[in-house]
Amino acid sequence: MTHLPERLLAGYKHFMSGRFLSETQKYRDLARDGQAPETLVIACCDSRSAPEIIFGAGAGELFVLRNVANLIPPYAPDGEFHSTSAALEFAVQALKVKNIVVMGHGRCGGIKAALDHKSPPLSPGDFIGKWMSLLAPSADAVAGNSLMTPGERQTALERISIRYSIANLRTFPCVKILEEKGKLKLFGAWFDISTGELWVMDSQTGDFVRPDLN
Ligand SMILES: [Zn+2]
Repeated sequence: MTHLPERLLAGYKHFMSGRFLSETQKYRDLARDGQAPETLVIACCDSRSAPEIIFGAGAGELFVLRNVANLIPPYAPDGEFHSTSAALEFAVQALKVKNIVVMGHGRCGGIKAALDHKSPPLSPGDFIGKWMSLLAPSADAVAGNSLMTPGERQTALERISIRYSIANLRTFPCVKILEEKGKLKLFGAWFDISTGELWVMDSQTGDFVRPDLN
């Protein structure tokens, strides 16, 4: 009887004989000293856009918050269950990360659904429908532009979602204060799954440009 999918057991075996074996001391140090990641990455749940893989990060390097369409909701201390805001608060106030990167990606299913309200699984009673309604004003504006192609609308809203989340990050007092003090930097990035291209957001203009890797 297996207690875990075979693929995961095989992957774990590979991890133990590979990375864990070669980085045993690092894991021991992290266990003893605790984690101190400098960067929080907010990414989509999409299985193709894993930040640790894209940025080649090892254990302890990235604090990763993943949700549908890499969204940060507005600051709303209303007593409800806010998992995204809780993780953000922990990263900023307890871990004191220096950087926050909001990373969107191409072919995002959440963004696609937001552009077409009628397509499943966006029925009003679903959690995902409520979640993606955060982007509804922007989604409606983009969806209503008949001169844009479906592909252009998709990419546009993916990038708008990144700027939207960064704007909402600044509604959290702890983020706003630390950014103003120069102790916290906010970044945007967009990953194209098919080509592997990473586009980074210009903090002044909001435009996405290819980074100079040399
Ligand atoms: Zn996505």
